[in-house]
Amino acid sequence: MIFDVIIAGCGPTGAMLAAELRLHDVRVLVLEKETEPVSFVRIVGLHIRSLELMAMRGLLERIREHGRQRPAGAYFAAIDKPAPAGLDSAYAYLLGIPQPVIVRLLEEHAIGLGAQVRRGAAVAGLEPDDEGVTVELADGERLRSRYLVGCDGARSTVRKLLGVGFPGEPARNDTLMGEMEVGVPPEQIATKMTEIGAIHRPFWLRPMGAGSYSVVVPAAGVSDRAEPPTLADFQQQLRAVTGTDFGVHSPRWLSRFGDATRLAERYRVGRVLLAGDAAHIHPPIGGQGLNLGVQDAFNLGWKLAAQVRGWAPDTLLDTYQAERHPVAADVLDNTRAQAELLSPEPGPRAVRRLLTALMDFDQVNRYLIEQVTAIGIRYDLGEGPDLLGRRLPDIAVKPGRLYDLLHRGRGLLLDRTERLTAARWSDRVDHLSDPTAALDAPAVLLRPDGHVAWIGDDQHDLDAHLTRWFGKPS
Ligand SMILES: Cc1cc2nc3c(=O)[nH]c(=O)nc-3n(C[C@H](O)[C@H](O)[C@H](O)COP(=O)(O)OP(=O)(O)OC[C@H]3O[C@@H](n4cnc5c(N)ncnc54)[C@H](O)[C@@H]3O)c2cc1C
Repeated sequence: MIFDVIIAGCGPTGAMLAAELRLHDVRVLVLEKETEPVSFVRIVGLHIRSLELMAMRGLLERIREHGRQRPAGAYFAAIDKPAPAGLDSAYAYLLGIPQPVIVRLLEEHAIGLGAQVRRGAAVAGLEPDDEGVTVELADGERLRSRYLVGCDGARSTVRKLLGVGFPGEPARNDTLMGEMEVGVPPEQIATKMTEIGAIHRPFWLRPMGAGSYSVVVPAAGVSDRAEPPTLADFQQQLRAVTGTDFGVHSPRWLSRFGDATRLAERYRVGRVLLAGDAAHIHPPIGGQGLNLGVQDAFNLGWKLAAQVRGWAPDTLLDTYQAERHPVAADVLDNTRAQAELLSPEPGPRAVRRLLTALMDFDQVNRYLIEQVTAIGIRYDLGEGPDLLGRRLPDIAVKPGRLYDLLHRGRGLLLDRTERLTAARWSDRVDHLSDPTAALDAPAVLLRPDGHVAWIGDDQHDLDAHLTRWFGKPS
């Protein structure tokens, strides 16, 4: 057995997962079907929780250099309200960044930690057994690993091979998106943008520099989703929607996306797991898909590593589905709601006006932004104070910032009592004794994903929770 984990797909989810596994010395191979990285310069927004994850692994500075900071608010159904004051995060903004750049940075991070990435290697078959999984590539080569994770996107081969159901709603609308040159002056484009934009269709032509424009226009009925769109499709649809094709020519890239909403029935079948778009898809409203996938990877990474390293408690790996499936179901629901709020019909427009007014109430605005930015997530870890199961923000601690102590992906006992110990788990859990920590509790046990697994001041209770999350002491 050469690999502990094979990951199908080197998108943002696969790259993040590979890096998380490498923090624990897991032997990882990422198989990516494309020979070259994707060139679609789609700008995506990293929301607060994802920025926090990047900070937790010491990546944020590097990523921030390539992005543009924008205000955190106004992403729920594009309702133009600023974020409420005092959002509880040191990273309360949105970072706009081209998707290929974030993928490259995460892939470099994973490779830097020792992950292997093979391009031009499409997973085409899998055979799980009691000891591992045999993975077959499209060219017939067979590889072996102990676990396989399908991070292979919306049309996931792994999900289909597993026979996992993907119920939900099919796409009702498709949109063409690409980058190309135009043959008309900018003033003509600006006039049409004002005219057509006013009737709420997904339509724009935006200058990208060097004579190139980003073009978005509704697609006609799509007969074969596997077939990429052509320049002729763009010309035809621009004419149909605006009356002119703006003389578009010389495309850099052309793509199409739909508004299907689906959630995998299961995230795990034995030794094979699913994460990211392979497990859930929804329209890109609110900019949550990549964030959700990267956060899946962050939740799964340390648990799968624990399983491979042999210290995982029996139920640990199953908490991945138990925690992340409901989170994805909530995101799907909020995108369904946002889609309705963007409808041009009179009923939804009235609801939009009502919600816009309600968002003047701080609690309403805060609730919605905490959903979209994922800082409101509380995993169900049983009875306990409100903080249990939530993330801890990047609070000030004696050596500096809390997140600087989480770069290695280990657990952390943050202890204001100065009398607790996690010494018997010291190969998995760090201990910071700091009576001055800006923490509203005597002590907390943090998981490697920064969520609070225990709150208290009793050593016996702490030992039980260390065992629950980090296995038997060594
Ligand atoms: C227009 C648009 C705007 C968006 N904006 C945002 C945004 O602002 N914020 C946000 O969070 N999200 C956004 N998204 C969503 C985001 O792009 C996706 O959710 C994200 O790419 C999912 O990442 P992933 O790694 O799970 O899957 P993907 O990015 O799809 O990566 C899957 C990878 O697997 C590879 N692969 C596929 N099949 C195989 C196989 N058989 N073997 C090996 N490799 C395989 C693919 O080549 C690909 O590299 C947007 C999406 C669209 C369409």
